[in-house]
Amino acid sequence: MSVTLSATLAANEDIERRRRAGERVLHLAFGEAGLPVHPALRERLIAASGLNGYGPVAGAPALREAAAGYWSRRHLPTDPDLVVCGPGSKPLLYGLLLAIGGDIVLPMPSWVSYAAQTELVGARSLLVPTPHGEGGVPDPERVAAAVRRARAQGRDVRSLLVTLPDNPAGTLAKASTIRRIAEVARELDLTIVSDEIYRDLVHSPATAFLSPADVAPERTVITSGLSKSLALGGWRIGVARLPSPLLRDRLLAVASEIWSSPAAPVQQAAAYAYTEPPELVDRVDRSRELHGAVARAVYERFVRAGVRVDAPQGGFYLYPDFTGLDFASSADLAAYLLDRHGVGVLPGHAFGDDPEALRVRVATSLLYGETTSLRLAALDAADPLELPWISASLDDLSEALTALRATRQASRSHVRLPLVTAPATG
Ligand code: PMP
Repeated sequence: MSVTLSATLAANEDIERRRRAGERVLHLAFGEAGLPVHPALRERLIAASGLNGYGPVAGAPALREAAAGYWSRRHLPTDPDLVVCGPGSKPLLYGLLLAIGGDIVLPMPSWVSYAAQTELVGARSLLVPTPHGEGGVPDPERVAAAVRRARAQGRDVRSLLVTLPDNPAGTLAKASTIRRIAEVARELDLTIVSDEIYRDLVHSPATAFLSPADVAPERTVITSGLSKSLALGGWRIGVARLPSPLLRDRLLAVASEIWSSPAAPVQQAAAYAYTEPPELVDRVDRSRELHGAVARAVYERFVRAGVRVDAPQGGFYLYPDFTGLDFASSADLAAYLLDRHGVGVLPGHAFGDDPEALRVRVATSLLYGETTSLRLAALDAADPLELPWISASLDDLSEALTALRATRQASRSHVRLPLVTAPATG
């Protein structure tokens, strides 16, 4: 078994170790929302702390009903009986791999844990590149070809996964691409797993969001959680919306043997969150604005440094491409950025990308500040980019990118970094 400590968690621990040793590191490696717990949630958690029973495997009825309401308000009418809650969406995804069985089509690149989990359950993934500028969705035409080829070789491919909006690319697939992937899934009889944990963090309200569950409800599972929109990663709570009682029962069988039930007090706080009371809607709105503003500012710094990168549309990630610099692999580039310039990023290789492609994943959410009060100030600021600690980090980044380019530009004179103009974001 070649699965090792998750690349994101390992990078985070390495950077924290360097920081403790006194090194100055710009931490752009970890996908944590980087914002404080809303006091209303903390109160709910404290009030529920006496709940020490296991509770139902599928989750507390109040949480399942609230999650069903959350989806229904997004035009996806949901039966609370088809909602399963777990200790984070990551274990739910793992449970789904076991419950669905067979091999799975993954976008390339895609979030580090999908391929690792696939390996853990003894299945194989088919990595299919994403269309240009549409991270998170394997190219539909290539999916059809890859699945037919794999099946002709006797492989049992049963599902495909999409991430909307995407980690690592920070972009959102177009509605037309979602419609097409849903058609392909139907033609090939594949279950679609739609990881929508960043859905509420699509930066612009003008950006249309289409879930595969809107167009192929009979075969789409949605997973989500509160780790990103409400920054509750450490509380470990996730929810899944199943298309059928059959798949729900299989998932429940797995859940009952792995986690039994999510933490009871956390479920109560999450039930409150999923009713979307005004103070939490306001918190998610502000968080989305902050993530958008900082991700766009970082994007502009990359563009100014002549690095090719897609404009971010959701969440807090960018996936710049350093083609033209003199490195043999994304791992070498990431190691150099950390050692020489104190900038921590993750190599694209960790996301299943071609190891030689000089792409790295940049997470922008740890720039909001190192303490709760700085992060709250960032959340409350009319213009977070004017806060001294954020603007200083942006300047550090620019300086590092300029120095990197000056020292590692490929020596052959005809190799030039692509010069990119900034398109309108949104
Ligand atoms: N999916 C994606 C795409 C993620 O980036 C993450 C967290 N980094 C998760 C799922 C897992 O989130 P959680 O287990 O906290 O719900």
